[in-house]
Amino acid sequence: MNLGKYSIGLGDRFGLEGIAQLRALQKAETRGTRITPVWNKSNREHTIIGTTPSDTRRAADEAVWACRWDGPYFVDADHIGLNTVDRFISASDFFTVDVAESIGKSVTSSSTSAFLAAMSRFKGTIRIPGVATPLKVDNDLLMDVAQKYLFAVEEAGRVYRYIAERKKTFVPEISVDEASTPQTPAELFFILGAISLEGIPIQTIAPKFTGDFLKGVDYVGTVEMFKQEFEEDLAVIAFAVDTFKLPTSLKLSVHTGSDKFSLYPIMHKAIKRANTGLHLKTAGTTWLEEVIGLASSGGDGLRLVKQLYAAAFKRYDELCRPYSTVIHIDRDRLPAPEEVESWTASEYVGALRHKPSSVRFNRNFRQLIHVSFKIAAEMGDRYMNLLNDCRDEIESNVTTNIFARHIQPLFLGTAADGENEVTTSGHARKETM
Ligand SMILES: [Zn+2]
Repeated sequence: MNLGKYSIGLGDRFGLEGIAQLRALQKAETRGTRITPVWNKSNREHTIIGTTPSDTRRAADEAVWACRWDGPYFVDADHIGLNTVDRFISASDFFTVDVAESIGKSVTSSSTSAFLAAMSRFKGTIRIPGVATPLKVDNDLLMDVAQKYLFAVEEAGRVYRYIAERKKTFVPEISVDEASTPQTPAELFFILGAISLEGIPIQTIAPKFTGDFLKGVDYVGTVEMFKQEFEEDLAVIAFAVDTFKLPTSLKLSVHTGSDKFSLYPIMHKAIKRANTGLHLKTAGTTWLEEVIGLASSGGDGLRLVKQLYAAAFKRYDELCRPYSTVIHIDRDRLPAPEEVESWTASEYVGALRHKPSSVRFNRNFRQLIHVSFKIAAEMGDRYMNLLNDCRDEIESNVTTNIFARHIQPLFLGTAADGENEVTTSGHARKETM
């Protein structure tokens, strides 16, 4: 199954924004760049919202049909393991096998010996084109990698085979982005070596990068360090593909990849220079555009999102707990619900829309709204009906966000077309195809 050179993970919490998301990809096509859509939803999200993987499949199929999208598209079982994969098997054709929890678990001595024997040919110095420091490989380094990652790779093999016994074709991704420390070039190289020994035809790998990848906001960390790490990861993958005879389409996957505005120009240059592909996984950024669309519609939409915030403010601990490692909210900087209650449409949108340079923008407010989709799910029909009432406003925001803020700087290498500002009437500038 061919994922294509460029692909983008599109989260869609309530399954209604597929068409607006696809329009962004169609705009990229008119500018000569094909990007494969992958609708991803994790078990955690399904559980919180009360949806099933077949809902994601249905929404994807319908969006593809409605837009006459004739390219490939996928439905991603995001962050699954052996204990969660079953419900995803029939609906998904992309599986993100998350083995972060298996890192550091001990393996049998026969596994370790087999790994050491297979990798002993690399002892000495390996020079990887594009990696600044040559890798010094000795027994200690190989033992280290084995102790830290071998069980995790074997676990990925067990999950891969479990799926392969039940499904003929699918895209396997392995993610170690939720590891506690970033992988060094040597670790990544030998992880890929172990993956090839395990016989997994891996298509995408999601490593952990330095710095914080927080939900809904820009990268927090040293951009220069990220640049070196990202470029070296690309170089290691290219070298490992040759060395270990891995699929030539293997590419990097960047998780929690939405809203990382300061990284996109760097990533764009690096993938162009290396002439390689990339998978960018986004998720909650579309849900936030739903909230923005409701707010900018004024009236009932604005009323609902104010209530949503008031409820989220009250249930802070409960909502933030599942996301504690991927959000960083300064509670003192959250506006009081009474203050939000007095906001106009453009004040609400200004606080929420991800425009880091804007004085209205509040990254704490945005992160709390990011994790409060559970409250919208509890509102049930009232929320879903308003999504329909405010459809035009929401869709223009969803499309613009994916295209202008993500696809343009990352895949097309062009500056954003300009933000669709909310006018005083509360109506956003309409995005035209
Ligand atoms: Zn992830």
